[in-house]
Amino acid sequence: MTIWLNGALRDADSAHVSVFDHGMTVGDGVFETLKTTHGRPFALTRHLARLADSARGLGLPEPDLDEVRRACAEVLQANPMPLGRLRITYTGGISPLGSDRGTGAPTLVVALGTASRRPDTTTAVTVPWTRNERGALAGLKSTSYGENVVALARARERGATEALFANTAGALCEGTGSNVFVVLDGELHTPPLASGCLAGITRALVVEWTGAKETELPLDVLDRAEEIFLTSTLRDVQALHAVDSRELPGAPGPVTAKAARIFEEQSTADIDP
Ligand code: PMP
Repeated sequence: MTIWLNGALRDADSAHVSVFDHGMTVGDGVFETLKTTHGRPFALTRHLARLADSARGLGLPEPDLDEVRRACAEVLQANPMPLGRLRITYTGGISPLGSDRGTGAPTLVVALGTASRRPDTTTAVTVPWTRNERGALAGLKSTSYGENVVALARARERGATEALFANTAGALCEGTGSNVFVVLDGELHTPPLASGCLAGITRALVVEWTGAKETELPLDVLDRAEEIFLTSTLRDVQALHAVDSRELPGAPGPVTAKAARIFEEQSTADIDP
């Protein structure tokens, strides 16, 4: 596997990042995961814009997006595969022990792994931990993902593939790596960005293409929604056929199926790049 590390393509086995990289020592970094099909990244410009937004939110130096774009193109060319996940990691760089921030040049890594098509339906559980919609990291795709790692492990223990968070106000927020949509009286809704959820790119496209409403929703909407689905780069639109002990046997229901069809059709059109 060939990856990009700080200005050049390298063999992954011999590419090393310093043990003093601030991204590793304190999670002072940001990342993106993109889906790639036959070497073409999906929604690259949107992902680069979010990478820059997250970096700004964390106070990291502005990433050189031309370099990131070039790195993505070179890594994709060096590792042909039908369906891939392209991971961009950008951190605060090397810092002497005890310093507040990385002081050297930031670290940029671009790597590609294989991906597989997810099933059309899956299961989720709610977890007792909350997303802090007023926290310093709210809405940023930072490498401080421990909260998501713990919640996802809880979901796996319970046989589900995703965990859903409420925020500190008790409103439905998002999953550990996905946004959530619900159907109420036939209408499609998703929590607003003010809920503390990530500005998911799949979420934004589904809202744009289906007219879904951004609505503050109590967590117990999961007990009564006619349909529920998740969105993310690697899931696309994925219906829930169970959430906690509730079964949704008809999943994917008609609204979800329509959203999935629209997403599939629109996203295979040449939207970007
Ligand atoms: N929320 C979180 C916490 C995520 O990690 C992700 C995955 N990036 C999403 C939502 C979905 O975002 P996207 O559609 O851009 O993959």
